[in-house]
Amino acid sequence: MRRTAWWRWGGRALGAFGGGVVLTVAIAWANVGRHAGGGSGWRPEPLTAAAAMQLWQTERPADFAEQTTGGHTARSVACTVTVAFGRSAGGPEAICELRYGWPMRAMRMVNYRTNPPLPATRQFRGAFLTGGSILPPAVPWLVVWPGLLVDAVFLAAASVLVVMLVSAGRRWWRRRRGRCGGCGYDTRLIDATRCPECGATLRPRS
Ligand SMILES: [Zn+2]
Repeated sequence: MRRTAWWRWGGRALGAFGGGVVLTVAIAWANVGRHAGGGSGWRPEPLTAAAAMQLWQTERPADFAEQTTGGHTARSVACTVTVAFGRSAGGPEAICELRYGWPMRAMRMVNYRTNPPLPATRQFRGAFLTGGSILPPAVPWLVVWPGLLVDAVFLAAASVLVVMLVSAGRRWWRRRRGRCGGCGYDTRLIDATRCPECGATLRPRS
């Protein structure tokens, strides 16, 4: 391929990947608010003591107790909620990590739950607080990089495939009606190998 062709294909691939990133974030955010849990589609499973402790220690605010009392993970198609429970002298504490995205989780936020509750500004880390009237009260902005990359590539490839199928179908339909596959120009009375309108090669009709 010539250099310009490489540039063109590189630009297209980059554009498709950018579209994949946008789709990934849109799918992740569209699933925020489905984390109430317990409903259909959720598959809860116990969290190992080591995994609960790791979540607890990586996300623990300084005023939370140092020990966990266990935890669990609940998954649905596009969301994962992992909870580590703790107990301090002040009362029960929980750290929830909420992950969103499909097919892999790509965006995450951390939610601190205590009884009595923390002030609103301290209940989340890695989230935009929206006020919660139309949007969910918190929308994540922390990125799970492997998930974002895999989702973006997968969704970009899926989008390109859909576009290719649609345009192949359109070309087939135009040719079937005796028109140029490239532009739809009526070629039934034209005896040429190239379309006079767009220059596309015309396939001889049998
Ligand atoms: Zn044409």
